[in-house]
Amino acid sequence: MAELINGKVFAAHLRAQLKDYVKQLQRQHQMVPGLAVVLVGDDAASQIYVRNKHRQALECGLRPATHSLPSTTTQGELLDVVTQLNANPTINGILVQLPLPRHIDSMAVLNAIDPDKDVDGFHPINVGRLTLGAPRLIPCTPLGCLLLLHHHLDNLSGLEAVVLGRSNIVGKPMAQLLLAEHCTVTIAHSRTRNLPAVCRRADIVVTAVGQPGLVQADWIKPGATVLDVGINRVTEGDQTRLVGDVDFAAVAEVAGAITPVPGGVGPMTIACLLRNTVTATCWQQGWPIPE
Ligand code: NDP
Repeated sequence: MAELINGKVFAAHLRAQLKDYVKQLQRQHQMVPGLAVVLVGDDAASQIYVRNKHRQALECGLRPATHSLPSTTTQGELLDVVTQLNANPTINGILVQLPLPRHIDSMAVLNAIDPDKDVDGFHPINVGRLTLGAPRLIPCTPLGCLLLLHHHLDNLSGLEAVVLGRSNIVGKPMAQLLLAEHCTVTIAHSRTRNLPAVCRRADIVVTAVGQPGLVQADWIKPGATVLDVGINRVTEGDQTRLVGDVDFAAVAEVAGAITPVPGGVGPMTIACLLRNTVTATCWQQGWPIPE
């Protein structure tokens, strides 16, 4: 039976470390890192994510500011808000919650964020830094996966890693991080032929697809480490529950270690956002970057 990788416990530990570090910054430099979260529209899931980010930032001793804008906000108005936040010295991190309403070009907005305040790590400059092997601000979900892997495996060098999914926010940056750890990386996607065979050679499988039960037990090499990023809502009768991309019960019989959904990768995402806010502050001020 696979070891359970408990992201909830790991994220709580990371937040406690950050809280101590923020206290230290306050003592030494009399400043508290500021995180601006911009929400446009009334998407229910986004409202919950933003509320959680605000609450956890406060709990860590950061200074969060949520900017809730109506769904009728124009691209120009949103860009003005980003420009003001870029220029505001009390704001060290800026996050624009995605998805944005359809009439707004997300790429144009993400590109307008100061790369040094881009705590989501989605700006082309931060994507480029990661690709060049000199990362500064790394997308939160892949960063969370990497921290979980490091906690669980002593050395990733030379391991076969398969990433399912090639999105800009999870799959591609995840693959870059694994490559930087000297893994042999395969990125699989909807056009990949014989996905089970591709997965079976992996020592590490990271799934970020969004299809419940996609990954089956006979896709997994015995003893492999499986990180399930997928978050899928499934309804059975009148019950709705969250599941990942992995057939958890069956895969847990074969894998060496596995993240559950919920309680695996999910909690790491916000913890890494807070970590990135502290990292961004330290880069901006020329202070040592916390480990
Ligand atoms: P996207 O929809 O942007 O990307 C999904 C990827 O999966 C695409 O690259 C797609 O391939 C690939 N794919 C689709 N079907 C298959 C298939 N049958 N076999 C192999 N690959 C397939 O999703 P995201 O990356 O944004 O998110 C992925 C999942 O992770 C979602 O469930 C999302 O909710 C969750 N998520 C969880 C987070 C967390 O904090 N835990 C954070 C972000 C996302 P192609 O490119 O060819 O279309």
